[in-house]
Amino acid sequence: MDLDNLEQEIRQYASKKEVSIIEATALDEEKVIDFIVNDYPEIIDLASQLDKKIIIISVAKFDEENLEIKEKEIGDRNKAEEFKREFKKYLGKNLYIGLYCINEGIVFNFHVRAEWHLEFVMKKGEVLKSEELDETSCKECGTEIFVFEEYCSECLKKKRKAGEEKTKEVAKELANNNEFSGLKNDAERKLFIEEKYPDLKDNEYVRIGQITPLAKAFLNSQKRKNN
Ligand SMILES: [Zn+2]
Repeated sequence: MDLDNLEQEIRQYASKKEVSIIEATALDEEKVIDFIVNDYPEIIDLASQLDKKIIIISVAKFDEENLEIKEKEIGDRNKAEEFKREFKKYLGKNLYIGLYCINEGIVFNFHVRAEWHLEFVMKKGEVLKSEELDETSCKECGTEIFVFEEYCSECLKKKRKAGEEKTKEVAKELANNNEFSGLKNDAERKLFIEEKYPDLKDNEYVRIGQITPLAKAFLNSQKRKNN
């Protein structure tokens, strides 16, 4: 999907739902408790139910800087020329879109990169000097990938998705668990989660730290519905 069109779609959908959009160039994503959603309507629908109907959008465009390779870094001059010719057509197009909605201390977010981004990164790697990329294969499906990854991007996506689902599932269960609600602090809650769900610790795609705030959010939204 073309991200310029997607941005249009997002803006139209937000306006239909009477949700305002704030522009941001970058968010400090390290500092937030986040929750990734699958598609942009989820974020906008959520915002439309809140008192302040606001989402944050962050769009990065593909610019000259992305195409630039320092003279001393070029390994293969022909490939460098070819690379520039090939990706010049994307100048000014959207490279990345991030959407954020903050609720109950959780930043719900949706990210998407242009389909050609991975190819761009790989081809740029081929142009650069001495960076010999060794190939290896995805642990899940055997597709050839580069050594710095364990899984191919498709399998990684599936793993992350499954992790998100599991995180949600556990949080929902715990939202209605009286023993869990009675715990006094995060340390006790962490211990409780680890004892009740011992297999979560080995799953790096489940975010244990998100379970407690999510369980609280689920509980609050249930209370609101019942009122
Ligand atoms: Zn794979």
